[in-house]
Amino acid sequence: MIERLKLTIVVENTTSHHKPGLWGQHGLSILIEADLGSESMCILMDTGASSDVLLHNMDVLGIDSDDIDLIFLSHGHYDHTGGLMGLLKRTKRRVPVLAHPGILSPKLRSGPFLRSIGIPFTRVDIENTGAVLLLPRNSVAVAPGIMTTGEVERRRSFESVEGFWTISDGIYREDRIDDDQALVISIKNRGIIVISGCAHSGIVNIVDQARRLTCSDSVYAVIGGFHLMGSDDERIRRTAEALLDLDPEIVRPGHCTGVRAIAQLQATLGDRCQPLFTGDVIEL
Ligand SMILES: [Zn+2]
Ligand SMILES: [Zn+2]
Repeated sequence: MIERLKLTIVVENTTSHHKPGLWGQHGLSILIEADLGSESMCILMDTGASSDVLLHNMDVLGIDSDDIDLIFLSHGHYDHTGGLMGLLKRTKRRVPVLAHPGILSPKLRSGPFLRSIGIPFTRVDIENTGAVLLLPRNSVAVAPGIMTTGEVERRRSFESVEGFWTISDGIYREDRIDDDQALVISIKNRGIIVISGCAHSGIVNIVDQARRLTCSDSVYAVIGGFHLMGSDDERIRRTAEALLDLDPEIVRPGHCTGVRAIAQLQATLGDRCQPLFTGDVIEL
């Protein structure tokens, strides 16, 4: 279990006037500093869409790349992986990069025309920087009280994936984005914290999986991208109601959640729900 946790939103779509000098960009990157008691661990979850924004914001926030013990990539889309190479080139350590093996598969979007939205690097590019690429499909305990979800079971019927495409076994087909994962952190006396990238697996499916993995029903916080941009009102309403049922203290949606969904989540959850901005620091 984690004693104390500090999250810093290094890159997000929006900036706030409370944190001047930071750049916003469609993407996400969150620094997670966890106090493990005798030691501390520093995880960078996702890297935004480009290294110029990531490294600029890290410099403004005073984050040293050599302090990062682990890079966790929530999935293979460019807006979460684009900053990776620039960061790895700056890092002197042989830093482990943990993700699902599907991050390297082709990722395409069809509307209004076919675009590649996958990771803009190859496995060789990444490994040539000295980084250690770790690609398990299942959940990994990265520290006592911190684990990845692994591939997320999709049980909630309203949380479907639409509009994404891939090529597997030579066939162009719809992409379920099986590589989508989140981090789950158990905090002493509080419960679990779920940190999502884009939540393509569905934010409620992800929280369900986090509860199964930790055998805990007490959800303290849900933070990250909920991917409800462009979702219909029915899905947004059902998501907000499901989150209300889980009764978390803190809900911080950002990135691909979308303004309509954030408004609905705030209407349903009240003050517990506040949107994320670049530069936000959440201490728990
Ligand atoms: Zn995505
Ligand atoms: Zn995204």
